[in-house]
Amino acid sequence: MTEHGAVDVDVVVIGAGVAGLVAARECARKGLTVVVFDAAETPGGFVATHDVAGIRLDSGAESFATRGGEKGKPGPVATLIADLGLGDDIATPNSRGAWVQLPDGAAPLPKLSLLGIPGAPLADDVRRILGWKGALRAQLDRYIPLLRVRPETDLGGIVRRRMGRAVLDRLVTPIVGGVHSASPNVIDVHAVAPGLTKAMTNQGSLSGAVLALLEERGTKVAAGSAVAGLDGGMYRLVEALVADCEKFGVEFRMSTAVRSTGPLHEPVEGNGVWTTTAASVDDESEPIELTSRAVVVATSFRTGLALLDGLGIDTGAPEAWPEPASVELATLVVDDTRLDAAPRGTGVLVATGVPGIQAKALTHATAKWNWLAQTAGSGRHVLRLSYDLDAVTPPPTKAQALSDASALLGLTLDESSVRGFALTRWNDSLAFATVGHRARVEALRSQADAVPGLLVVGAWMAGTGLAATVAQSRTAASDFAFELRTGAV
Ligand SMILES: Cc1cc2nc3c(=O)[nH]c(=O)nc-3n(C[C@H](O)[C@H](O)[C@H](O)COP(=O)(O)OP(=O)(O)OC[C@H]3O[C@@H](n4cnc5c(N)ncnc54)[C@H](O)[C@@H]3O)c2cc1C
Repeated sequence: MTEHGAVDVDVVVIGAGVAGLVAARECARKGLTVVVFDAAETPGGFVATHDVAGIRLDSGAESFATRGGEKGKPGPVATLIADLGLGDDIATPNSRGAWVQLPDGAAPLPKLSLLGIPGAPLADDVRRILGWKGALRAQLDRYIPLLRVRPETDLGGIVRRRMGRAVLDRLVTPIVGGVHSASPNVIDVHAVAPGLTKAMTNQGSLSGAVLALLEERGTKVAAGSAVAGLDGGMYRLVEALVADCEKFGVEFRMSTAVRSTGPLHEPVEGNGVWTTTAASVDDESEPIELTSRAVVVATSFRTGLALLDGLGIDTGAPEAWPEPASVELATLVVDDTRLDAAPRGTGVLVATGVPGIQAKALTHATAKWNWLAQTAGSGRHVLRLSYDLDAVTPPPTKAQALSDASALLGLTLDESSVRGFALTRWNDSLAFATVGHRARVEALRSQADAVPGLLVVGAWMAGTGLAATVAQSRTAASDFAFELRTGAV
């Protein structure tokens, strides 16, 4: 029973991913009692950790986008990390930059580019990838009059119209596929490159817009480096969030899946009562019921839709939502001093149609993060390959991962050099950024906002990635907690 009446707890949070942890912390810091349910054994969701060859590594997200702060200020993730006392441990990736693997060879990604869209199409590093013909076609963007960009439009269409097929196929498609697990032809430009179309209107061209955005973000540096990480791995963020939540009295119930949630009766003067039913995922014990004043839905996409459906919210036809992507990460730890020279910088993104290579991207983690190189020790390297999976594709084998890593790094890695190998599968990671997604999400959000005592947070509503997820969850949960505290809900 809380000070607010005959309920078990003020707030039930469903899901202990970063969105749920941030929401739980905001509520608890405002003096509300909070219980967090998560179906998994450990908190963190897509931010997870594992041990490979005795090295603690991230097995999900390994960095965060630094954008999102007001001019000159740190972004939402860096601000949260600093609030949790880990500000000095923010790590900047090595400035070597990443490469792209094309069917006819590999090349470093152009320095002045955004999602592969070149800011200076005739620069040497762009011509190396596009050839003169492709580069001149891309440069035409400077001279083609700019028509109005539709409010919601696909990134692929814009790039193709302004700069031609070569930029789309050889630069933008591998990068967007690697980062967002989707083709640029279905990706909403506003979701992945906020401000790009506005900058196009101001600058009169796509390449001009890219330069303007890079200038604004202060990221005129090697491709892929508008991100940061944490010394020791991103999982430290989860550990710090959990510790802080516990300090404020949050109770965690792990390995417990929520089956349903809903208000018991119409709220009267702020006294709505929600009942949440959850069951252990480990045994057949009786489901438990918990009453609360409010509920935060912070699950991944499929569960979130089902829970909102159960609340009578119109979630639309299931087929209107894109199929969530499944990604398999293959981690290899190898002893090979040839990798000390970082032959492909911080990693390689793979264009479609490269014969013999199944991976869509490789991160040379020890070349990217100095803290990891030091932890691994001299000559030992961590390679992380990602694979898009569908229902019929089997997971990659160690031999496949080794063969892909060899091809992508331009040297033959010997099986005897392998010190550790691990596979991690991630399901239900929705390509948030598809065209039409924002409209679907807004339709859901406005219905959810009209339900007293309900808050929905998480990447499938906020936008894939920690920056968008943390920003949305922190702002929304802080307002929500304030309203609960002051009795406005
Ligand atoms: C392989 C991979 C790598 C990534 N790398 C990066 C990166 O480097 N940088 C970056 O910014 N972003 C990255 N992302 C994306 C980023 O990790 C996510 O956008 C973010 O972590 C999502 O957080 P969330 O809390 O919204 O959701 P999730 O992390 O999905 O958390 C949802 C939680 O809900 C729980 N849950 C589900 N159903 C139930 C239920 N019925 N009852 C109770 N609990 C339930 C789940 O167990 C899970 O813990 C990556 C994603 C993947 C898959």
